[in-house]
Amino acid sequence: MDGIVVSEVSKRFGDTQVLRDVSLEVGRGEFLSLVGPSGCGKTTLMRIVAGLEGVTSGTVCIGGRDVTATRAADRDVAMVFQNYALYPHLTVRQNISVPLMMRRLRPVQRLPFAGWLSPSVRATLGAIGEDVETAARMLGIGALLDRKPAHLSGGQRQRVALGRAIVRNPSAFLMDEPLSNLDAALRVTTRSEIVAIHRRVGASTVYVTHDQSEAMTMSDRIAVMMQGVLLQVGTPDEIYGNPQDLRVARFIGSPSINQIAAHAGPDGLLCVGGVSVGLRLEKPGNAVLAVRPEDLHLASQGLAGRIEHLEYLGESLLAHVRLTEGAETVICRLSPENRTRLRPDEPVHLAFDHGRALVFAPDNRRLAARPLPSALREVARG
Ligand code: ATP
Repeated sequence: MDGIVVSEVSKRFGDTQVLRDVSLEVGRGEFLSLVGPSGCGKTTLMRIVAGLEGVTSGTVCIGGRDVTATRAADRDVAMVFQNYALYPHLTVRQNISVPLMMRRLRPVQRLPFAGWLSPSVRATLGAIGEDVETAARMLGIGALLDRKPAHLSGGQRQRVALGRAIVRNPSAFLMDEPLSNLDAALRVTTRSEIVAIHRRVGASTVYVTHDQSEAMTMSDRIAVMMQGVLLQVGTPDEIYGNPQDLRVARFIGSPSINQIAAHAGPDGLLCVGGVSVGLRLEKPGNAVLAVRPEDLHLASQGLAGRIEHLEYLGESLLAHVRLTEGAETVICRLSPENRTRLRPDEPVHLAFDHGRALVFAPDNRRLAARPLPSALREVARG
């Protein structure tokens, strides 16, 4: 495979197991986001792919070549970090030129005035200058080439860092939380710029973030990692609508997916507080019924509860409902017109779309759940 292939990579720091048997393939030209909570091992995996950290076991291939033992400088990947890592004493032009100078000129040729002596060095410097101008134009920072980083905004610095990565024309980009130093509005515009640049450049990209909305909006696929284990890799649709693990379901989506303690009796009928919710499991036992806020709606019958409070968001209304059965408060996303007719403390019933409800085992595994024939579903359907 042409992109990045990580096979059964494990990593220990002393007694701490940070990555466990991680296998991940990023196709040529694919944009994959790696998400997970702080400390789950995202940066460690990136550093391993970049060659800045060795593996304890497993292999890394880039562009069809096993690079597990290859040093970082020879891996043909470019990394963009959260802190930009620009040289403060160099101009934007010089910052972007650095990787090209390192690659295309020998140490003696990089000395000041070397270009005056050698026509071939002059030609190389000319080509580097053109490449830098092209990258700067692509990023909209052509007018800033003679400034130093201290005289740039956060967003402009981030673009310079991107320029320095792009100019190398690498076969893979690794971006580790590149937008986390930007304010909210700039994050949104810069993320669409990164996607547009990725389309133009076409290199395999792994984008590390702990921001699930960034991952959902930018990626071809998302890989969800927790405690050093890759839980699921899939398209944003698959990860959102068909999570295979409750931790994945919880991590993606805002407000978070509702979780309601449930129990399946000997016949497999799933009940919340003894009331059937219209789903049948293959086996009896405790389970978690998980429903996204937009899949819960008000009904004449169903899960009974009382409104705790309402949050008006303009385009929708979030109703926080304390369920009568069980201790949970669930959130439903309702249309904004409900604002005028609902009041805190009001009793309501909630129904959900059985085709979209998810059921998980107590150990977080997804369980198969079949909707009951509609005649038997009267309680939950409403
Ligand atoms: P964040 O989102 O906060 O950046 P992360 O998912 O990128 O977190 P890592 O930085 O990969 O997580 O760290 C994973 C775990 O490995 C953490 O518990 C961290 O303390 C530990 N770790 C990372 N580098 C080292 C090291 N050089 N020596 C010992 N432990 C380390």
